[in-house]
Amino acid sequence: MTFDQILGHDAQKDLLRRALNSGRLAHAYLFEGPEGVGKRLMALALVRAVFCENGSGCGNCTACRKIDHNNHPDLHIVEPEGSFIKIEQVRDLQKELSYRPLEARQKICLIDGADLMNPAAGNALLKTLEEPQGHTLMVLLSCRPEALLTTIRSRCQRIPFSRLPYRLLLNVLRDRLEIDDREAHLLAALSEGSLNKALGKDRDFYTQKRPVLLKRLLGLSLGNMAPLMELAQEIAEDKESCPDFLEILLAFYRDALLAQQGRPENEWVNLDLKDGIRHLATQTTDMLLVQIESIEACRQQIQRNVNRQLAIEVLLERLVA
Ligand SMILES: [Zn+2]
Repeated sequence: MTFDQILGHDAQKDLLRRALNSGRLAHAYLFEGPEGVGKRLMALALVRAVFCENGSGCGNCTACRKIDHNNHPDLHIVEPEGSFIKIEQVRDLQKELSYRPLEARQKICLIDGADLMNPAAGNALLKTLEEPQGHTLMVLLSCRPEALLTTIRSRCQRIPFSRLPYRLLLNVLRDRLEIDDREAHLLAALSEGSLNKALGKDRDFYTQKRPVLLKRLLGLSLGNMAPLMELAQEIAEDKESCPDFLEILLAFYRDALLAQQGRPENEWVNLDLKDGIRHLATQTTDMLLVQIESIEACRQQIQRNVNRQLAIEVLLERLVA
């Protein structure tokens, strides 16, 4: 992967290219921003540019090929083992960094999911950042930089990454997945600016199941609880798709809010459910905002592993009340 092959993030590419060309790379970078937008790809492009025998990140030389196969002896990648990066991993890294580089002129260390270092690991890493050994280049990647030790953040040059623009995603999805505009729109709109997320979407869930689930939701009422309980149970039982369901729910209520504010239809996600959106939009703005908040709250509860079925039941009751 070269800088040119990475989708979007032109300013970040320029910044890194300029630093490279002038020999002024920082000794530590923090690439921060949402998941799945290309931070790791950018880091690997940087590694290639630094190690490449042709100085371009050509992809053909031995160094580039070793990077692509993840077996370059001077590239050290640390990522969470289980849910955390542990102190032992940082200690192992420090040991590696104490040796001279084998094939390149310097070592590069990439820490993916840097915010998942537990405090002990973070403090250990701080030592490495404070007393850089040789020419080691450190690149930390994080989608929750606020969870990093302040002292770590302040030792790094921070490079923010943002979500990819909707248009860009739309075009890439259309090309790569060979899907029609309608489906590309749906995936791009629901992926929150992350290409990884868009490409990894369960397309059947979004194209087939989504409209069915949302129509069932619109048919619910507190006067007849059986269908509500049934839907809640069905959603809760499918642990994998449960977060996806909440995501489509959120998009649906946001559509209603857009409709109510008189925004043009092409900004809506669920273009195949216009009647349903208009129906929801007859509520007050306050009501819609409360509903959106309830969906967000339910999403967070489920991430914290609460009783899924109960959480979904309570949510559905709030939405149809
Ligand atoms: Zn090369």
